[in-house]
Amino acid sequence: MMMGLLAGLSSAAIGGVVGGAVAGPTLDRIEMLDWSDPERAEQLLGAALPNAALQEPDIQLLEVRGMVFADVHRDADVDATLARLHGLAQRGRRSAIVAEHYVRAYSLYQRDQYAAAAAELKYIDIDSIATDTERYRISTLQGNSLRMLGQAEAALPYLERSLDLAHEMHDDVRGLHAMLWLARINLNTGNLERASEQLESARSLAVSMGDEAALVEVDSCVSDVADRRGDRAAERRASLSALDHAKRSGSNKWLANALINLGDSYLKTHDFAESLKYSKLALPIVMKLHESGDEPIVSFNEGLAYIGLGNIKPGERLAEGAIAEALAGDNLLDTKELLREYADALEHAGYLMMAIQIYHRYDDISEQSMTVARQRAFLELSAKFDDERRARELELLRRDNALKVSEMRGQRLGQQLMLAAALFITCICAALLWAFARVRKANNRLRFNSERDALTGLRNRRYFNEHVLSVDGARPVAGCVLLADLDHFKRINDTLGHPAGDAVLATVSHRLSAALRESDKLVRWGGEEFLAVLDPITPEQADITVERLLHAVRRDPVLWNGQPIQCTISIGYACFPMAGSGTEISLDSAIGLVDKALYEAKRRGRDRACLIGALSAVTERELTIISAEFESAAADRRIRLVDMGAAA
Ligand code: GH3
Ligand code: MG
Ligand code: MG
Repeated sequence: MMMGLLAGLSSAAIGGVVGGAVAGPTLDRIEMLDWSDPERAEQLLGAALPNAALQEPDIQLLEVRGMVFADVHRDADVDATLARLHGLAQRGRRSAIVAEHYVRAYSLYQRDQYAAAAAELKYIDIDSIATDTERYRISTLQGNSLRMLGQAEAALPYLERSLDLAHEMHDDVRGLHAMLWLARINLNTGNLERASEQLESARSLAVSMGDEAALVEVDSCVSDVADRRGDRAAERRASLSALDHAKRSGSNKWLANALINLGDSYLKTHDFAESLKYSKLALPIVMKLHESGDEPIVSFNEGLAYIGLGNIKPGERLAEGAIAEALAGDNLLDTKELLREYADALEHAGYLMMAIQIYHRYDDISEQSMTVARQRAFLELSAKFDDERRARELELLRRDNALKVSEMRGQRLGQQLMLAAALFITCICAALLWAFARVRKANNRLRFNSERDALTGLRNRRYFNEHVLSVDGARPVAGCVLLADLDHFKRINDTLGHPAGDAVLATVSHRLSAALRESDKLVRWGGEEFLAVLDPITPEQADITVERLLHAVRRDPVLWNGQPIQCTISIGYACFPMAGSGTEISLDSAIGLVDKALYEAKRRGRDRACLIGALSAVTERELTIISAEFESAAADRRIRLVDMGAAA
């Protein structure tokens, strides 16, 4: 049975240990020694740094320790090292994170769990690693894991990278290792020419370095190449040469390796006694090394040798033991291979019935391994399907989320639009209310202006016509009606100017208004003419009021630009109902009558009032005639005029 061993090389010289700490170059040599002779690497490491002395942990040191412990199968110490690295990784040491993954992968590899090792290494981003040695370690382990999984093509770039890195570092030892692994790949893939070339280069390098362990590996590979070619003599020569080098290397690992290979070699040439001899030599060394994987191989080879020698009982026991162990390890491919070799050996030794039984078992295991392979393929396919389904679901979920987000955005936009619309409407309403208020105010002002005289502030004639005459104008008047007119007002305008006339008009209107009661209606009737309609009062009260009005205007001159302007007014007035009148007199007619009285006051000298005390009119027509013939009516006493309030 051939062994799938990881190559190992002995270091020509191991450097010293400095002051209880392991110096960088020494640590490197220990690491290299670990590949060729793990037992000595372990001893050196223990001497250099006992476990307790490790106060300030050096991640590189922990990493190399992890590798060495894994190689000598100190599983508890591997776990302790991993725990320390994990602690450092949790404290944020990036190199500790890498080291932890690496040591775990390395330990898995040593326990033949290549797929798990390769998976563990996937956690490491090889390009983010700063040191070439660390990169070399990782790429080498990844390459070898894939190589052991039979994935030669995938393994090749990793191991080629290892070789390149070794060249860049000018590191012959690492270069030699990489060359040997590449040769193994070419051997496995049947590229025997290429493998032979690489092995010759490796041999030259190993000879120049005096590296006996490397030469064991070179010869082991050469023997495998010869075996593939069916060249028994060359295979035997190489296997024996490997044993010589192994003895010189002083490495138990390589000695066991060479002895196992020789046991296998002699089995193939049916030299069972020789085969048994080498297997028996290999067994104690393998047991000492705790190489759990090698032990059943040696036992199996031993068993086949016994069978070949006709010693069927121990042969059967040893062969069945190795097969049971392979089955227990769930390793169907190995079991199948063992069963085939076992059946061949039985057949060759003449135990045909037993051989047939073993061939049947071989067929069953073949069937089983095919079923397992089919199941695995099915599981991989369904896992892939699951992944795709999950990816699809995730995509749907993502789309659903995107839809919800856009819906929410839409809702939010809608709310914002509603809010904006509400704000807009509120603004419009406020603007409308404000506009209405302004319009109402403007209307009020317009009405005020249209009903008032701008100069005096009194109601104007239009107001009086619309609100008084059109309502009460035709009805019989009750109260006192009087018209006042400024005397010689034209002169003021002519001599002092229009503004002076305006000032006089404003002052006089103010004085007239002040001389009347709140309830009396005073209107600017024309240019310098004022109409007053007083509530019913006695004739005496009317006379006093008229006197007061005349006096109010006459009393003080109007001051304009510091200049006094003497003013007087003339008044015509009458109180209704009128004494002597048999007919009712309307406001309209009353105003016409007092206008005549005013004229009379002017005619009689101004600054006075003329009262219509009584008139004799029985009918409306008589009244109209009196009004039209006012002067003659006064003369013939149809109307009685009283001169009132002339200045003393
Ligand atoms: P009489 O004593 O007979 O009433 O003579 P008078 O000059 O007062 O009367 P007349 O009718 O001859 O002249 C009135 C003048 O009043 C004519 C006009 O120019 C002037 N007047 C009318 N309205 C205004 C006004 O608002 N401001 C000014 N300054 N003058 C006005
Ligand atoms: Mg006048
Ligand atoms: Mg006038």
